[in-house]
Formats: sequence, C-alpha cells, structure tokens
Amino acid sequence: MNSIFADAQKRLVDVFKYTELTDDVEETFKHPKLSLCVSLPVRMDDGRLKIFTGYRVQFNDTRGPTKGGIRYHPDVSLDEITSLSFWMTIKCAVMNLPFGGAKGGICVNPKDLSRLELERLSRSYIRGIADIIGPKRDILAPDVYTNATIMGWMADEYTQIKRQQLPGVITGKPVHLNGSLGREYATGRGALHVLQQWLDRKKLQPQNLTVAVQGFGNAGYHFARLAHRVGFNIVGIADSKGAIYSKKGLEPQKVMQHKQEHHDLGTMLYCDGSVCDLQHYQKISSQELLELDVDILVVAALENQIDKDNAGNIMAQIVLEIANGPVTSEADAILEKNGVVVLPDVLANAGGVTVSYFEWVQNRAGYYWVEEKVNARLEKCITREARAIFDLADEKRISLRTAAYLQGVNRIAGAITQQGTREYFLNK
Ligand code: NAD
Repeated sequence: MNSIFADAQKRLVDVFKYTELTDDVEETFKHPKLSLCVSLPVRMDDGRLKIFTGYRVQFNDTRGPTKGGIRYHPDVSLDEITSLSFWMTIKCAVMNLPFGGAKGGICVNPKDLSRLELERLSRSYIRGIADIIGPKRDILAPDVYTNATIMGWMADEYTQIKRQQLPGVITGKPVHLNGSLGREYATGRGALHVLQQWLDRKKLQPQNLTVAVQGFGNAGYHFARLAHRVGFNIVGIADSKGAIYSKKGLEPQKVMQHKQEHHDLGTMLYCDGSVCDLQHYQKISSQELLELDVDILVVAALENQIDKDNAGNIMAQIVLEIANGPVTSEADAILEKNGVVVLPDVLANAGGVTVSYFEWVQNRAGYYWVEEKVNARLEKCITREARAIFDLADEKRISLRTAAYLQGVNRIAGAITQQGTREYFLNK
C-alpha cells in the first residue's frame, strides 16, 4: 500500500518552487517532532483484558503548542496519523492560529464496543499520552468517530491525573463542560463560508447549484444542513453504508432525523442507521455519488476517496474538501487538467480548528462568548484567509491548494528562520 505521508509530502515539491526557503525549513518539514505509539489496556464487559493500539504524533510546534484531533477507526495507522498531523501543521498556519500541528488515533471499530468499554478506552488513551499533552503543549479535539461526549471523558481523565482543572487540554467538549458554543457545527459552517467566497468571485448563486455530499457525520451533516438553508440543492448524500440520490433535492435535517431513529443499542453514541434506510430515494454507492453530474462535490468522509482511477470520472466543476486528504496528488493533476476547481482541505475544513482555538482562548481566560460572537469571528477569520489565498492563486497562476500551502508554509518558514539558519550560524 502507498504511504499517505509520502503522498502528502509530494504537495510540498510544487510549493517550494514558488518560495525561497532555507534548507533548514525543507529538512524540518520531512520529520514529525514526536511520534508515540501506546498500548491501551481495557477491561471489557465480559471480564477479558484487551489491548488496543493508540498513536499521538506532534508534527511541528515552532508556531505554538501542537493541536489536532483524535480518530477512532479500524484503519488507523502511524502513517495516517503522521499525515494528518502534517496537514494540521499547515492548516493552523494557513489560518494564522498560534498552533503547530498534531493528530492522534486508536485502531478500533468503536461501533463494536459498549458505551462503558468506549469510556474505558478513551480514559486509557489519556493515561497513555498524558505526559506529552497539556494546554500549553499539545491540545486534542474530536475527529472521525469521536465526539463531544468522548472529549468530556478525556478532559475528566486528564483533570484526575493532574489534580487540576485544565480544560484547555482538549477542545470540542460538551458546552456544559467548558466547551464553546458553535464548535459542533464550526467545520461545516467554515466550509460553507469558503465555498460562498469562491462562488461570489465567480458570480454564482446557490439557488442554481446542485451538490452531492460524501460523509454525513459532524462535518458533512452540518455543511449540508447549512448549505440547504441558504438555497443549495443537495441532491445526493453518502455515508459508510451507501448513498441516496434525488434529482428534486434532499432535506439534510430530515435525512439525519431518519438515520438517528436507527440507534445502535450498544453505545447510543453511534448511529447504526444509514441514509440508505430512506426507502423512497434512489440508492447508489458512495463511489457512484462521487461521479454524479452535479455542480459541487463535497468530500467529507476519509482520505484517498478521489484517486487516479476515478478522478477522470468526476463531473462536478467544484470539489470542496471537508475531509482531510480526500484527493491524492495524482488525482489533483487529473482534476486540474479537466478544469475542476478544488477548494483544499487545509482551508475548507479549517473552521473546526478555528473555533477550537476560540474554545482554548475561552478556557484560558475563564470567560465565555455568546454564540453570535463565535460565529462572527469564525466568518471574519476564514473569509480573510480564503480571500488572501484566492488572490495569491490569481497572482501566481497556481492552484488553490498550492496557494493555500504557500500561505501556510511561508508563515511556518518565517518562524523556523527566526530561530536561526545555516547562514546565521556560519556568520554569513
Ligand atoms: P464523523 O465520524 O462525525 O463522520 C464520518 C462520516 O463519514 C460518517 O457519516 C460515516 O458514515 C462517513 N463515512 C465513513 N466512510 C465512508 C465512506 N467510505 N463513504 C461515505 N461515507 C463514509 O467524522 P467527521 O468529524 O465528520 O470527520 C469527517 C472528515 O472531516 C474527516 O476527514 C475529518 O478528519 C475531517 N474533519 C473533521 C473536523 C471536525 O471538526 N469534526 C474538522 C476538520 C476536518
């Protein structure tokens, strides 16, 4: 299998052509600062002891404490978590947040665990990594198949270990446990702002545009809900079990309501239902959804969904990357040749980490903002960075991805260079 991290690094080759960087910077980008692999013992409900494997990778902390989510998925590997920590480093710099990048994960299918097993596993993970995290060192957050409830258990475990209330160690917590208003839907909301900025430039109206959404979890659902509200026609929705299509359009909130009626009895934290349970819509596969004849394709599930094999079949004119790394570097080249515009992940899904930053600020200040303030600040930050990236892409005639990376890499490079370069140490 190809390395996700090796593919992620290929993006830098293009970026380095457009900026003058010292060898120090290029060398730094090749290596994560710290990679930890931990064995996580969990007492299962039937009395057995089961050991799970967990990871935490801190990629770079030159610009501040590292920041990144925790993923629960059977395919989690060190390679995947390293790539995600690299993307977090770029993303935080793209948004000019005072953070470096990190990521964590546990190799598990959380839907196979009971609620109590899941809580023990989450607490075991914090015990395993407690020495390398902290509000001023490395800050956690939700990602695929983790949510506010799990963040609450983790924050509580950290409090017990440190014997201090340190809510800033983790963001995306429940609002009643020092979470921020607006964090739950921030990723979807931020993606919608980025899309709208792009459409405004092209003088396109939502009412005339059809959208297909792959991934109907935290990020994809809230995007679809908010996009439907401002007039986009959501014609296709996919989750891990399949997809539904309706030319006339779907109502995301009703689809979610129906999906949730099929709760998994074990944990009640995951939904056992699927969008496919909605009988009166046409059923298609998640792969077919990607190739629908729509104006906008939103990829909000996992990495590597569009690769060299299906990139040529993408009919959408715009791909909005809400997932991290959904398009491989080979697919990027094919999409570009076919005139498909990709709104890149390091910008399009940055609403989540931006409001996580706001949560961290509120936790440290001990002063909490009203929802309108959170939303207004998110809109201001993400539209400012989006406009700068769109302008840079126009000016240098480069893809939006290369422009976004350029913006992030230049900021990180500035910080690395300020710490001293070869020229500096050789007194040149
Ligand atoms: P989630 O667990 O809430 O939802 C994941 C969704 O993807 C589920 O609906 C699941 O059914 C679906 N899915 C999984 N495999 C699929 C497949 N093969 N085809 C179609 N659907 C599939 O996770 P999330 O938090 O929404 O994260 C989704 C993506 O967004 C990830 O790449 C994550 O890294 C990224 N992201 C999330 C956030 C956040 O704040 N949650 C922030 C930035 C980026």
